[in-house]
Amino acid sequence: MKWALVGASTIADQWMVNAIRAAGDDIVAIVSGDLTRAQSFATKHAIPHALDNETALDHLGIEAVYISNTNEKHEASVCRAAAAKQHVLCEKPLAVALDAARRMATACDDAGVTMATNHHLRHNAAHRAMRAQVQGGALGQISSARLSHSVYLPKHIQGWRLTERGAGGGVVLDIAVHNADSLAFIFGDYPSQVCAMTSNTGMATGLEDNAMSIWQFPSGMTAFTHQGFNTPFAQTHVQIHGDKGSLHGEGILTQAAGGTLSLSTAAGTDAVALDNDNLYERVIKNLHLAIQDQAHANADGWGGVRSLCVAHAILESAATGRTVDVRYD
Ligand code: NDP
Repeated sequence: MKWALVGASTIADQWMVNAIRAAGDDIVAIVSGDLTRAQSFATKHAIPHALDNETALDHLGIEAVYISNTNEKHEASVCRAAAAKQHVLCEKPLAVALDAARRMATACDDAGVTMATNHHLRHNAAHRAMRAQVQGGALGQISSARLSHSVYLPKHIQGWRLTERGAGGGVVLDIAVHNADSLAFIFGDYPSQVCAMTSNTGMATGLEDNAMSIWQFPSGMTAFTHQGFNTPFAQTHVQIHGDKGSLHGEGILTQAAGGTLSLSTAAGTDAVALDNDNLYERVIKNLHLAIQDQAHANADGWGGVRSLCVAHAILESAATGRTVDVRYD
């Protein structure tokens, strides 16, 4: 498949160029708002066309577009790609505003193109194993989950995330969407209510750099989630507790494959074997399946919308001090 990249971003540079090529596809063009940046990205990655205008993509035989510009720009890029009948892999959060995210998913549906949201964590081997254990009944009746996704934002991306809500900054829009998608993947459902507090610990300017929230699912299960930009020494983890067993995943909310998973039951605690492979490459391979109308494991456009609904409910709860119903309509 012939791809164009929209956004000369860090994630495109560090992960997605390799992932697309490893899945057997070609990258034909890179589009940036700055032609010099596009040219330098194209040179570094041996991409034939460097452009500063997405409309030029209409004449290059592009079949799929990876969109990783800042979040307020995603809508225009997705809608242009859909109109040009190009499949879409869009970064999370899909947009800053919910209405924009809904318009993006609708545009792809109406154009008959496949849309995926780059919620890569569901492709982590531990997440896949947790889903299989939970849905296979190994934990019995599940009462609770705890997810700690507090990291230290690396210096080289300490820009718009810490200063610009309009670009999708703040830890809730940036990280809570991943947490919503991960729990939805494992449990097959999204929370119906959330209650949250956020804080600014001095890393961000005018935005939250730390957030904790409690979610209630339609099943009655509760989940605790921690999102942070400000914890240099924290490890990520996911725990799931049922009346027959508990799962403990450590180091499994990261970009790189890896981490560990153990299952504790009345018989003791055993490590769960994990077949680790590159998460982003799996996203591309699953996009191929989706385009062929085959079963796939990606978050689609509407999955990206739903994870953004959860993030907005967290922000509303933190702002009002109330428990908030998550509205998905
Ligand atoms: P970056 O800040 O690296 O890039 C975002 C945009 O900023 C680029 O598209 C580019 O604009 C512009 N830019 C990049 N470098 C420079 C520079 N030196 N000077 C001026 N402008 C520059 O963002 P990230 O790669 O961190 O994130 C991009 C998207 O990917 C976001 O939606 C983010 O949420 C998402 N993301 C997803 C992850 C995942 O695992 N799914 C992980 C990390 C990020 P232009 O388009 O004009 O080239």
